[in-house]
Amino acid sequence: MHLVFLGPPGSGKGTQAKALADKLKIAHISTGDVLRNEIKMATELGLLAKSFMDMGELVPDDLMLKMIKDILQKKPDGFIFDGFPRTAAQAEGLENLLNELGKQIDAVIYLTAKDEDLLKRLQGRYYCADCDLDYNINTRPPKMAGICDSCGEKLRQRSDDTDEVILHRLDVYRERTKPVEEFYRLRGLLKEIDGSQPPDRVTSLVMGAVG
Ligand code: AMP
Repeated sequence: MHLVFLGPPGSGKGTQAKALADKLKIAHISTGDVLRNEIKMATELGLLAKSFMDMGELVPDDLMLKMIKDILQKKPDGFIFDGFPRTAAQAEGLENLLNELGKQIDAVIYLTAKDEDLLKRLQGRYYCADCDLDYNINTRPPKMAGICDSCGEKLRQRSDDTDEVILHRLDVYRERTKPVEEFYRLRGLLKEIDGSQPPDRVTSLVMGAVG
């Protein structure tokens, strides 16, 4: 199965895409995670991407499409793209790449939420760099404030989860990523789900939508 998760930052796409990929036993490809890993490894792509990511801007389409081409060439049987495509040009590029491989997107899960909920979620988001666990002080707080339940390390916030950058990322989503919604709606692939509901409820709706 080939799926795309679409939605504004903070809509829960990462959490839901991970849960669904585990259930379906297919690859979860978060382009944000791939890029953060490139930065950690100080690759050429990582160095190029960092300045865009720190400002809440999108990494240019040609870099993203080259990265996706490399990932697709490793030919995962099934996959969920989380955070890609984020522009109409990326959606077209992905369609062309998949056509060449004789594949196509089966469904696009579109998670929606109100701006005030998105803001609250992003402001409350923390992670443990050691064990890669995610927390949220509003919905999934650690037992001890600021400390990872599992390994006791100090929790961190993503460098692009500051108020100023969050607001900019929401603007960028509205301007650049909204057209992707229309791209997939026209192809009859869009499954819209209210992402402001409790995570378990969203997971069962997502499961129902990909049937
Ligand atoms: P995310 O983890 O999905 O919130 O992505 C974090 C950042 O990575 C974004 O704000 C962008 O700077 C960059 N990024 C991730 N995916 C893409 C994409 N498909 N196109 C351009 N930039 C991306």
